[in-house]
Amino acid sequence: MRRVGLAPRAASRKCHSTNKSAGLVRKGFRIPHAVRFAVRVQTLRTMLGDLRLCFESFPDRRQGQNATYSMADIGLAAFSIFFMQSPSFLAHQRRLKEGHGRSNCASLFEMDRIPSDNHIRAMLDPASPALLHPAFASVVEALRRPGALDEFRRLGEHTLIALDGTEYHCSDKIRCEQCSRRLRGKDTSKEKIEYFHAMLSATVVAPGHNHAIPLEPEFIVPQDGAEKQDCESRAARRWLATHAARHAALNPVYLGDDLYSNQPLCQAVLDQGAHFIFVCKPSSHPLIEEYISGAELPSHVVRVKHGRSWDTHHYRWMNAVPLRDSKDALAVNWFEITIMNADGKTTYHNSFVTDLPVDRDNVAELAACGRARWKIENATFNVLKSNGYNLEHNFGHGKQNLAAVLVSLNLLAFAFHTVCDHVEPVWRLARSKAGTRRAFFQDLASLTAHLIFPSWDDLMQTLAFTKPPPLPP
Ligand SMILES: [Zn+2]
Repeated sequence: MRRVGLAPRAASRKCHSTNKSAGLVRKGFRIPHAVRFAVRVQTLRTMLGDLRLCFESFPDRRQGQNATYSMADIGLAAFSIFFMQSPSFLAHQRRLKEGHGRSNCASLFEMDRIPSDNHIRAMLDPASPALLHPAFASVVEALRRPGALDEFRRLGEHTLIALDGTEYHCSDKIRCEQCSRRLRGKDTSKEKIEYFHAMLSATVVAPGHNHAIPLEPEFIVPQDGAEKQDCESRAARRWLATHAARHAALNPVYLGDDLYSNQPLCQAVLDQGAHFIFVCKPSSHPLIEEYISGAELPSHVVRVKHGRSWDTHHYRWMNAVPLRDSKDALAVNWFEITIMNADGKTTYHNSFVTDLPVDRDNVAELAACGRARWKIENATFNVLKSNGYNLEHNFGHGKQNLAAVLVSLNLLAFAFHTVCDHVEPVWRLARSKAGTRRAFFQDLASLTAHLIFPSWDDLMQTLAFTKPPPLPP
């Protein structure tokens, strides 16, 4: 379980990971003919259209005259802040609308009117975040076009989906009906109640780059007296039962930490016709430890350049070991990786279990994939919790579901960005011209604060320097 909050240290780490991803976008980039002659930011518009349909399904409890703003306007207004990564996006658009009768809310997000932050908060609070699931499906659909997922394919035709428990709210003051609570403080006379929200996140990741695609989360609402770890484990099984079938076309291999390497979870993955690579610590799997300690194991050694020196990656494995001490135990395949630096000092060690057969040819890639689950934190949540995605900044925490709806919109904005990074040529060109992710979104925010763009095509072409900006309104 890791925490996502408004951690001040996030900014510096974020910069590091985003520079890397911008580098990948830039690498080998050529301006396609289509960008010069017939620009169509089509996939983004399709995804926004699907998101609009989700908002139209949100409950609207207002009566008659009160319903000035449509639920689509209300939802898209909240989403636009996360998508544009600019907390002041709506404020700027209200000023443009006031001064010139038009705004980018209408031309880019197809909104009729711009609701106030208070109204957005009040109207989104009662909605179930599950109503946004079709928008996540639309993201996966966008990535199913030929070539779009190539960068994420590993172990042949598989895609890696990392499962992880994440806290996205923690406070001793701000709370709602849905908050979980716990006692904090070692001194029992001064114990404080802490309120928090957690979710099981599922993210498409891959070793070798920092791109990530968040899928729909499963919210964790602990029952009284239930163990924290048990809650995450149950949420993971709920996620698999509810969503895994829909993602079967990705041919997924699920990744998870030591909490996941138990029989019910491994079986839940296999029941979906999918595969797993889960961390398997010796301390929590004494039987496996017993099997491997008494056996002569196959091994494989690879030297890998690390900066100016060379590391040694040492692998060992054993197929068909029982996962637990029972007659019905699943047989799993165990492997470990040990990394030593040039001085012979161990710098990394981890062991995993998988249902995929392990051999000399694939053990290094399996280990790289098993380690890729750390990208959830590096690639996704460090970006989500910093800069323009800041959770709760504009709309507060709500009384019912607002916190969960906002975190879902955040994940969707991040997923839409990743899709655009992969399938929208003019967006890619604009990203590469900006150099870094941060610079790209700063340009996006400052241009749309003062100029009104007739379409995404115009905005992206201006950012890509293939078309001059529209004349000031
Ligand atoms: Zn709450």
